[in-house]
Order: sequence, then C-alpha cells, then structure tokens
Amino acid sequence: MEKLKEFFYSLKVRLFCCFLLAIILPGIVFSITIPKFFIQSKLADLAAESLSHAQALADQVAGTSYLSDVNSNQQIDGEVTALADFTDSRLILVDSNFRVVKDTNNVAVGKIMVSTEVIKSIQGEAITNYKENSNYIEIAVPIKMTNEEEPHGVLIYCVSTDDIRQSKLTIISMCGFILIVLLIMAVGISVIGSWTLVKPYNLVAEEISGIKSGAEIKITHKSHKEMNEIIDGFNDLMSGMRAKDEAQAQFVSNVSHELKTPLTSMKVLADSIGSMGEDVPVEMYREFMEDITGEIDRETDIINDLLALVRMDRAASFSASPTNMNDLLELIMKRIAPIAETKKVELVLESFRPVVADIDEIKMGQALTNLIENAVKYNKEEGWVHISLNADHQYCYIKIADNGIGIPADSIDHIFERFYRVDQSHSREIPGSGLGLAITQQAVLLHHGEIKAYSVEDEGTTFDIRFPLKYIEKEQVNEEA
Ligand code: ADP
Repeated sequence: MEKLKEFFYSLKVRLFCCFLLAIILPGIVFSITIPKFFIQSKLADLAAESLSHAQALADQVAGTSYLSDVNSNQQIDGEVTALADFTDSRLILVDSNFRVVKDTNNVAVGKIMVSTEVIKSIQGEAITNYKENSNYIEIAVPIKMTNEEEPHGVLIYCVSTDDIRQSKLTIISMCGFILIVLLIMAVGISVIGSWTLVKPYNLVAEEISGIKSGAEIKITHKSHKEMNEIIDGFNDLMSGMRAKDEAQAQFVSNVSHELKTPLTSMKVLADSIGSMGEDVPVEMYREFMEDITGEIDRETDIINDLLALVRMDRAASFSASPTNMNDLLELIMKRIAPIAETKKVELVLESFRPVVADIDEIKMGQALTNLIENAVKYNKEEGWVHISLNADHQYCYIKIADNGIGIPADSIDHIFERFYRVDQSHSREIPGSGLGLAITQQAVLLHHGEIKAYSVEDEGTTFDIRFPLKYIEKEQVNEEA
C-alpha cells in the first residue's frame, strides 16, 4: 500500500498522467461530438430536401383529381411511385376524409389514417418529424393550390435514414480506430516526456547521494534553466555553509590559541618562581606576581571580549530605542578621559547638531567605546582624538580620527577580522585581544549601518560610521522594497 502511494506521489507518474490526459481527453471529446454533429447535420439536410420533394409533389397533385381517383392521372401516379422507389421511401396520400387513397407499400389503401401529423397537416401545416435514433423521417404536407384555403388531403412522405445510420457506424468505428492510435501515441509521448523531464532530478539526486561526507558538496550536472537555478542555489548554499564551517573552525582554533597564550605565560612564570628556591628576594617575587596578574587581566579581557562578541552575534537580543547621540558620546568620552590623560592625548567632540537615533544603546555604546579607546591606545604621547557627530534627515554620521601610529596599508583590509592584530612592534606591545573591531563592525551592521577605516602609517587613522536614524526591521525594509 505504502509502495503504491509512493508510486502515485512520484513526479514521473504524475507527469505521465497529465500528458496522457492532455492528449487523450480532447480525443475522446472529439470522438463523441464529431459523429453526433455529423448525423444531426445529415438528418437536417435530408429532412429539408425531402420536404421540398413532398411539397413539389403535393402541388402537382393539388391541381388534379388524383385524390378522388388514383387511376385518373397516370403521370402523377408514376411520379409518386418513382419518388418512393428512387429515394427508398414510402408515400401515402390521404384525402380530406382521412382515407388513404395511395400507399406505395400497398398496405393501407382504403384505411382511415388519423394521426397528429395528418390532423395538423389537413389544417394547412407542413410537418417534419425526425429523431436521431429512428429509422425514418416523416413529412406531412397539405395538398392544396396556393390560392385555396382548405387542403384536399395530405401527402405523407416517410424517408428512410438507413444510409445515414450506416455512415454513422462507419464514422464511429473510424473515430474508435483514431482513438486507439491516439492512445498508443499518447502513452509513448507521455513516457518519453515524463522520463525526459524527471531525468535531471534523478541525476541530481544521484549526484547528491554519491557525495562522500567531508567532500566538497558541489553539483556539476547541468540541465534545463529552472533546474540550473536550483543547482546554482544549492551550490551557493553549500559553499556558504562550508565557508561558515571553516570560519567557525578557524574561530575556535584562534580562541583556543588566544586563551592558551596567557595560561602558558603564567605557567612559565609560576615554574620559574618554584625553581628559584628559598633565597629569592621579595622584589623578584613581587615582580613575578605582577606579571602573573597582568596575564590574568589579559585572559579576563579576552573572555570579556568573547562574551561581548557572542552577545553581538545574537541579533535576537537587539532592542533599539530613541537615544540622544550627543549625550552618549559625551558619556563615553568622560569614561575614557582618565586613560587619555595618562597618555596626554587630547579628546575633542565636535557636535554639528543634536542627534537622536534609534539604537541599541549598549551595543552601539560598546562599538563607539572600542573605537575611541583604540584611538587613544594606538596614539602617541600628546596626540589628539577628534570625534565628530552629524546627521541629515536619514542618517547619523560619526567620525573618530586620531593622529596615532596608523595602520599599514596591507593590514587595513584585515582589521575587522576576529583576533586580527597588526603585527608591528609598537602595536604588539599594546595589550588587546584583536576582537574590538569585530565587535564594533557587528554592532554597526546590526543597526543596518556601515563602517569604513582610512589610515596612513605614522600619521593617524579615521573611522567613519553611518547608520539610519530610524531603525527599521530588515524584513520590513524588504517588504517595502
Ligand atoms: P585590539 O584588541 O588589538 O585593539 P581591535 O580589533 O580593536 O583589537 O583592533 C585590531 C587591530 O587594529 C589592533 O590590534 C591595531 O593594530 C589596529 N588598530 C585598531 N584601531 C587602531 C587605531 N585607531 N590606530 C592604529 N591601529 C589601530
């Protein structure tokens, strides 16, 4: 039962049935309607032709005394017999007393004939009676001169429809034959059509099931346009997933490495103290302990940044509300000012106008803090950091510029990568996890904004941020588009 259900659910069988029905149904409709239409039109033609013959004969009879004495006019009698023989029909002439005076079949002469047709006809009406399934057409015409009111009698003309019935049988058998040929052709076309259309799906399915786990998942088969679009979409999806897997593996390896480095240093320091023996001066112990505390701080910073990054990745925890950007920047600057003071770095905020934007204050606050902290961290003694805030009717613009150590040209494209740190003697000496800019970029992207970095080594760095003042859900943006 399950197998049968599966069979009928297969695309091949469904296509086969569709093709078959599309070809065979019109065939059946034609085979039924064509003979019917043919018979009806033939019967109508025969009825019209017979009526005119009967009418002509009735006109001829009307001008004679044939109805009173059939032997009085040999010519009419001959014509009546000739018409009956020639058209394989029966002619009956009835006088005004409903008495049959002439019957070409010679069975009803002298009898009284009172039928609906005769009664109607004797009142002056011409009657044509035929049914599709009967063997004859019955015509009754009044026998009267054109100028006469009352008919002298009625001429009944029964024409055989055997020839038409015979042709009907021939046409039906011809249609039946055509239908069988059509059925055979339809089965052939349906098998080939459905097989050809389903073949690419089977090939692709075979190719997918043949892919070994761990191997690169890419379908190489090419087919019709729609199938190619599915294949391209599948390949893109797979390569995207693969890239994501690789990035994730790389991230895990980087995290392990970064977390291991301070631990290794602490172990070395602890081992060194242990192997020094009893006579080590207290200052030396203190120095080692300070180094160990430094490594613990570094480890804590990395873990905090990792947690911040994970939180940033979780877009579900994003909640935007109208926030005064001038106040937010001032607050961040206030927090960073003590660090800037120790390096004698000047912090300047230039606000072009009051700006209120829909932001997640914590996430955007963290992004701006990272940028301003970096601008101070990677600066020189007595350097400066200029922050500017502006907006138009649509976007908020923030620029953070410093005249610090700058970023080498070959590193600028990598600074937003996770754990990337510029490998430069003075930059390496400055503590950091290499996650700050990744967190910042993620925060800006969550606000549907963009961030760009410009830098000249030994001259300074500028970060430009732009994001919409009104936060609109991405789905909403797509719907409106
Ligand atoms: P980190 O924790 O190392 O500061 P970030 O992701 O914040 O990590 O920055 C990545 C790297 O980009 C830094 O290690 C530094 O080399 C460089 N960088 C970032 N901001 C600046 C800046 N304002 N000036 C010079 N170099 C910078």
